[in-house]
Amino acid sequence: MATAIETISHPDAMRRFSKQQRRADRTVAFVPTMGALHEGHASLIRRAAERADCVVTSIFVNPTQFGPNEDFEQYPRTLAADLDVAAAAGCDVVFTPDTKTMYPDGVHCSVHVKGAIVEKFDGASRPGHFNGVATIVAKLFNIVQPDIAVFGLKDFQQTRVVSALVRDLDFDVELDLAPTSREANGLARSSRNAYLTDEGRARAALIYKTLQQAARAAAAGEGNRGRLEQLMAEVLSADTGIRPDYAQAARAHDLSTADEYAAGEEIVFLLAAHLDNVRLIDNITARIGA
Ligand code: AMP
Repeated sequence: MATAIETISHPDAMRRFSKQQRRADRTVAFVPTMGALHEGHASLIRRAAERADCVVTSIFVNPTQFGPNEDFEQYPRTLAADLDVAAAAGCDVVFTPDTKTMYPDGVHCSVHVKGAIVEKFDGASRPGHFNGVATIVAKLFNIVQPDIAVFGLKDFQQTRVVSALVRDLDFDVELDLAPTSREANGLARSSRNAYLTDEGRARAALIYKTLQQAARAAAAGEGNRGRLEQLMAEVLSADTGIRPDYAQAARAHDLSTADEYAAGEEIVFLLAAHLDNVRLIDNITARIGA
């Protein structure tokens, strides 16, 4: 059944809508997505609806955050179903710009992210990815002009990048970071899970199990990065079909690394792995126990 939810495709119309909300003293919460909406996105939209008078969700598969050999072309595009998911979760307006309106004349001006937050992990594996993310988020913030924006901790490194964007470029937007929604077996929900077979989804549960074991070791007092990363490599090696890209431990607040983490430090374990040609990422945070 088609859902009656307002869609806006042009940035000018989107900006007009947001200005009207502001004039009517209504707050706007924003959930940027690339579509193929699943329960993880829905949980963000529900959270946004609790925090503001009006929720805008954007659906835009942003070409500038994909590398030349990545899955931009294949990325699932399921707009009709997405509108139903968004409406059911409490979204008021879906912003669906196309590439031509977002980048009418290519990219002459973009946001450049640097430092520890992008030196490793997906920043190293996907060169340019976070510049693309920061640039599109800046553009979307300027168009939607939200009071609050909700991002998922599923993309942990992205949350560090967006936090730096807001802080360093003085965006007047409050960030709300939401927990990761998971399948019953622990697999983090992701639009890319659609590429997996049922068997692949079952096997991918090992990724979260690996993170949980590392988090348990850290909470029990293990602060040695080499040993924590070795533990993750060993757990993951139980399935030789899962090819890790990285499985590492960093400080949660700025993604800096040290050989030894001290008791009380908050650590994030970040993992990316290929399974059946699908690249999956996940993470978990833990405090080093005394
Ligand atoms: P994407 O459509 O993958 O760009 O994701 C849009 C937003 O949804 C981002 O802030 C993601 O971090 C968030 N998100 C994606 N998957 C999940 C999940 N399983 N749980 C919570 N948030 C998620």
